[in-house]
Amino acid sequence: MTQPSEPDLSIRELQASVDAWIRDVGVRYFSEMTNLAILMEEVGELARIFARSFGDQSFKNDEASYNLPDELADILFVIVCLANQTGVDLQAAIEANLAKKTRRDAERHRNNPKLKATDSKALDEPQPKALPTEPKQPQGN
Ligand SMILES: [Mg+2]
Repeated sequence: MTQPSEPDLSIRELQASVDAWIRDVGVRYFSEMTNLAILMEEVGELARIFARSFGDQSFKNDEASYNLPDELADILFVIVCLANQTGVDLQAAIEANLAKKTRRDAERHRNNPKLKATDSKALDEPQPKALPTEPKQPQGN
C-alpha cells in the first residue's frame, strides 16, 4: 500500500471535503436519485473487475486496464454525496454500526466453523488477495 501524501482524513473531514469539491468543481449535487443510479453503476464497475479477477470471467483483449482503488474510491465518493444530501453523519453512523455488529456478533463469527483458519497467522492479520496481473494489452498486427 502506498503512503498517503496528506494526513489521514476523518470521515467527517471526508464529508466536508466532498461537499467543498461539489460546490467548487461540481457546481451542485446531482439529485439523490441520480446519485443512487451512479452508485449502482459504480458497484457494477467493481463487480466487473471482481468477476474477471477472481471469478470465472476473463478480460477482453482490448479491455482497458482496471483500477481497483479508483473504483472503490468512486463508490465511496458517491456514498459520501448521498450522506451529505440526506444529512447523515457517516462518522457517527459507522461508529454506531460497528457497536451494533459487535454486540450482535460477539460470539457468532468466532463460533462459525466455516471461518476457522488453517493457521494462526490468518486469525491475526487480514490477508489481502492479490489481484492478478492487469489484462493483456492488445497486440499490434
Ligand atoms: Mg468508476
